[in-house]
Amino acid sequence: MSDKLLTELLPNLYFVHGKLSGRFPYSNGLMIDAEERVLVDTGFGRSRIEEIMDSGEVKVIINTHYHLDHVFGNKYIPHAKIWAHKLDAPALRSSKQFMKYTGLNENLGFPDPIRFPGGPYSCEVDRELVDGEILDFGALRLQVIHTPGHTPGHIALYEPQAGILFSGDIDLTPFGPWYGNLCSDLEEFIGSIRYLIELNPKVLVTSHSGIITDNITTRLKEYLEILNIRDHQIIEYLQVAKTVEELVDQKIIYTRFPEPQRLYRFFEEVMIRKHLQYLIGQGKVYTLNQTFKAFD
Ligand SMILES: [Zn+2]
Repeated sequence: MSDKLLTELLPNLYFVHGKLSGRFPYSNGLMIDAEERVLVDTGFGRSRIEEIMDSGEVKVIINTHYHLDHVFGNKYIPHAKIWAHKLDAPALRSSKQFMKYTGLNENLGFPDPIRFPGGPYSCEVDRELVDGEILDFGALRLQVIHTPGHTPGHIALYEPQAGILFSGDIDLTPFGPWYGNLCSDLEEFIGSIRYLIELNPKVLVTSHSGIITDNITTRLKEYLEILNIRDHQIIEYLQVAKTVEELVDQKIIYTRFPEPQRLYRFFEEVMIRKHLQYLIGQGKVYTLNQTFKAFD
């Protein structure tokens, strides 16, 4: 684990190292230090946010999406304006909408009061971002790229001159893409990864895997391929008809369920159901009496 706080990417743009190398419940982000100081996400850990604020006031926070490991630090910077994509803004503004977007409820043991004391975090969203707009910070300009799938309003930020892309939770972790909220969308996620492959960035900066400079295209393709592998595993299991519950028991996506297990079983089920819906649409799986079976 590195204790380093900042890595310079450009004269006005820094990578912010999250606690635990940005592993959940933390995340990495960016700091823009141009006309104003701006943070992209705030999941670095409280002491790191305080260290940043000690050297200059943070005027704006851009949240890549509404997940708590990206926004939970907003509360430690109470005077900053918050910007987020218009489709994720409702889940930031209201904890009721957050629960609706995610499908979570208190019985599932989320949010974990130790990791996220005080529960789902709600805040004003002062500016709603849209795809393609240029955020002009004077010495630095970033383009908003709408990359839905993980959440409906997930965004990436792109600095075209140096080819630096902050891709948020399109994060190239070995786990692979995560779409365990009710509002997550598997096909949109596929489209977003493909879009980033097309964009062909020179540097990929991620929320949970740090800064990537080598083999970016190959690594994005491998990340995308994980979705295909999950499809094939499901089809294998469905040579014999199974209920969703029986598929969840196979631990296809999570491989093991950490505590609280009911929460991770819920995420697994949400993701499995999205694959089933996709495979039914592709004519590879059909459903009969609450069970699913692959076509022979
Ligand atoms: Zn996320």
